[in-house]
Amino acid sequence: MPLKRMDKTPMSERAAGRRAHDFLEVNEGYDMARAMFEAERCLRCQDPVCVDGCPVRIPIPEFIHAIAAGDMREAATILRGANPLPAICGRVCPQETQCEELCHMNNRFSSAAIGHLERFVADWERGQPANDATRQPWRDEKIAVIGSGPAGLVCAGQLADMGYPVTVYEALHAPGGVLRYGIPEFRLPNAVLDWEIDVLRQRGVEIANNIIVGKTIALDALLDDMGFAAVFVGTGAGLPKFLGIPGENLNGVFSANEFLTRINLMRAYDFPVSDTPMKVGKRVAVIGAGNTAMDTVRSALRLGAEKGLIVYRRSETEMTARIEEHHHAIEEGVEFHWLTNPIEVLGNVDGWVTGLKCQVMELGEADDSGRARPLPVAGSEFVIPVDNVVLSIGTTPNPLLLQSTAGLETDRWGCLVADEESGRTTRARIYAGGDVVTGAATVILAAGAGKNAAEAIDRDLSAARGDDQGRELQSGRH
Ligand SMILES: Cc1cc2nc3c(=O)[nH]c(=O)nc-3n(C[C@H](O)[C@H](O)[C@H](O)COP(=O)(O)OP(=O)(O)OC[C@H]3O[C@@H](n4cnc5c(N)ncnc54)[C@H](O)[C@@H]3O)c2cc1C
Repeated sequence: MPLKRMDKTPMSERAAGRRAHDFLEVNEGYDMARAMFEAERCLRCQDPVCVDGCPVRIPIPEFIHAIAAGDMREAATILRGANPLPAICGRVCPQETQCEELCHMNNRFSSAAIGHLERFVADWERGQPANDATRQPWRDEKIAVIGSGPAGLVCAGQLADMGYPVTVYEALHAPGGVLRYGIPEFRLPNAVLDWEIDVLRQRGVEIANNIIVGKTIALDALLDDMGFAAVFVGTGAGLPKFLGIPGENLNGVFSANEFLTRINLMRAYDFPVSDTPMKVGKRVAVIGAGNTAMDTVRSALRLGAEKGLIVYRRSETEMTARIEEHHHAIEEGVEFHWLTNPIEVLGNVDGWVTGLKCQVMELGEADDSGRARPLPVAGSEFVIPVDNVVLSIGTTPNPLLLQSTAGLETDRWGCLVADEESGRTTRARIYAGGDVVTGAATVILAAGAGKNAAEAIDRDLSAARGDDQGRELQSGRH
């Protein structure tokens, strides 16, 4: 099909009929010709407002112009200078509500495909010969980072670039946070994540897996006994919420976190090459309509479910999933039950799930979240026959670390209180960012918070060291 200047250049993707039965990546990326064509669509605006929509402020026009000029090395250098995880953000960021939403092209045509181009540059870089030399830190103050999700990884990478020795402590046996245990292979292959983490290791970041700070080591021990000058907490929001309806403890009910962790981190997607299968029934209902819900229902189909259902108490308009994930789920045959509220999980005498009792909802006035409030329609109860129910209705921060560390203030949702600009918490030398502060949000917001905190840590340490610049810049509660 000929490409058109008015429209975003499409990225090729694997056919729905084929891809819905395996875990290989759905999107195939641009080739050089498409990337250059798309790069030429950028208007070279005087006021590149797209940059305002990017939490890590990637110099978007500059990297796109480098592609248009055929200078991939320059494009990669510009991109990586602002975002240490470009291959990941190019795949999973909701660009349509960030940089691309602000693009001036939107006024008449469709925006420049900034996300597709970011992915293209990062994938080009991944194809270049590896640099095996590991950079050595040149500063004295050691920094500990707790959690290896995007917040922790970006914070660690930025600090390593500033010369600090950085150790990331991760509770699980492999780093990456949600990027590894949550987002499935067909959207973000582990090989891409591993490569990005290897780049960080080469930049000097050390990663210690299988260490739960707050249990294996106390946070205070890092500061008092182990000689770390500062700690960044990026422990995410991995504690699933439940509905509290009857039948939630039946066999065959999962939280989306458990379901996806078994598939991704424990590699059920690769069974029988891996030893850890994940058995699903014929009909799997997923409750919720965010990215996690879409990943869950699409994974269930790939594991052999004949029917994958999304059950959501609001309408399609209030759904929080990325447009692309919703679109791909439709193509792969997912059934959507909008305005449907589950009120009971039904089971058989052996304690296994047999159905989901629901009621029909209608939308009322806006609630605190600004979205129309769903209200039950009297006498509208009905049963959907299902074999599994997976709850994907949100998560909150795991309280273990926060409760085991004195003096860290949390809010009424259990999120750690930290300054948005600097990540400073209510305790000196402890910084935080990402989902543990905001509640479940996005990769790029976590990355942005990690970057801001790294800059604040450097400013505060520079001030303590007596560097003039650090003293000038120091601000806030420390
Ligand atoms: C299934 C799913 C799909 C998603 N899809 C998208 C998407 O398409 N686009 C998007 O932008 N966002 C998406 N998100 C949201 C995004 O992944 C998160 O907002 C982001 O990962 C948060 O990053 P983080 O670094 O704050 O925390 P996490 O990624 O949660 O990482 C926290 C890490 O800290 C570790 N940890 C926790 N406690 C301790 C402890 N005490 N000691 C040591 N380590 C600890 C955890 O094991 C984990 O590895 C998705 C989320 C999920 C669950």
